[in-house]
Amino acid sequence: MNATLLDRLRTELDERRTTTGLRRDLVVSGAQGPTLGVGGETLVNLASNDYLGLAGDPEVLESARRAMRDMGLGVGAGRVLCGTRAIHGELEAAIAELVGTEDALLYNSCFDANLGVFDALLGPDDAILSDALNHASLIDGIRLTRARRHVFAHADLDDLERRLAECADARHRLIVTDGVFSMDGDVVALPRLSELAQRHDAALVVDDSHATGVLGATGAGTAEHFGLKGRVDVLTGTLGKALGGGGGGFVAGAHEVVETLRQVSRPYIFTNAMAPPLAVAALTAIRIARGRPELRERLAANTAWLRGALHDLGYEVLPGEHPIIPVMLRGGSLARDVAEALRREGVLVFALSYPVVPAGEERIRLQVSASHTAGQLERAVAAFDRARVVLAGA
Ligand SMILES: *Cc1c(COP(=O)(O)O)cnc(C)c1O
Repeated sequence: MNATLLDRLRTELDERRTTTGLRRDLVVSGAQGPTLGVGGETLVNLASNDYLGLAGDPEVLESARRAMRDMGLGVGAGRVLCGTRAIHGELEAAIAELVGTEDALLYNSCFDANLGVFDALLGPDDAILSDALNHASLIDGIRLTRARRHVFAHADLDDLERRLAECADARHRLIVTDGVFSMDGDVVALPRLSELAQRHDAALVVDDSHATGVLGATGAGTAEHFGLKGRVDVLTGTLGKALGGGGGGFVAGAHEVVETLRQVSRPYIFTNAMAPPLAVAALTAIRIARGRPELRERLAANTAWLRGALHDLGYEVLPGEHPIIPVMLRGGSLARDVAEALRREGVLVFALSYPVVPAGEERIRLQVSASHTAGQLERAVAAFDRARVVLAGA
């Protein structure tokens, strides 16, 4: 190993160890579900993106098993060579139908989709306007383009409008936003944003990873939630959250958008195709997500109940309707201390602190699932009740 590089990495890791501390992955045993096995214990799981509980759905799992019997696991080739199976096209059609676009294209993750979409659609004469709190994958995907880049203050449409006016001379203006922001669980003000986009002849790109399957009467996402289904120009999303959690991402939009991506999008072309059992599982999950609105009703009821119970205990809960529930525990190591206390009480949560969120906005982020039982949520609330001794000591 090169000594100069090794020395620098050691120095930086030491520094990180003493400042923010080093990340250590929690090792979970067994399958994803409303509870998780950790260190021989069973914890109530309030930390996964499995909003509809479809990761453990027997039909989803059986469809993947059957697909593996029939087609094997991986295809060992890219989509543009011999990696494409009929299921890839069927899944793309189902995604397009779910979100209300003409077509859709599969990627191996939404991270890949976001890396592949902007460079394929834009050039140096174009301008991108990106919300300051957009997901890391959008930021990186935007960096890969030669378009002019403007960041507008989070959810600040006045700031966005000023910046739109500044790039009136660009060939295209592309406004990019998360549908639901993962730290606060806030939903983008799509009606006003969409109106603003139209007024400035700008195209609108929404990453709906936390909304697909979750928001809207049929789970079509943020646009359907606002009665604007089909009105977003380009939608990106994941199959790794509400839609079964097996993994995979997509870009959905007009035929011309999808056809352009098929021709030139690098994370689509230069990688292996999605394993067919994963594609089959996602297709089953989409069918269930669309056909069983009661899952979204249970999710909404669970979310409202947990929000109310935490509020009644005196916790500061950021307002909202999304199953992401931020419980604010501001300052120092309070969020981390409460998260540890909750784990000792049998509830798995994670604290978010600087630099993931600004200093002073430390929090515990909860994520509710339709699969949580009343008993599990009551256990979580009892743990939050007992964890109040940490607050008293702070
Ligand atoms: C989770 C998430 C992603 C990444 O999705 P993967 O399919 O896991 O790569 C991208 N964007 C947003 C907004 C997300 O929340």
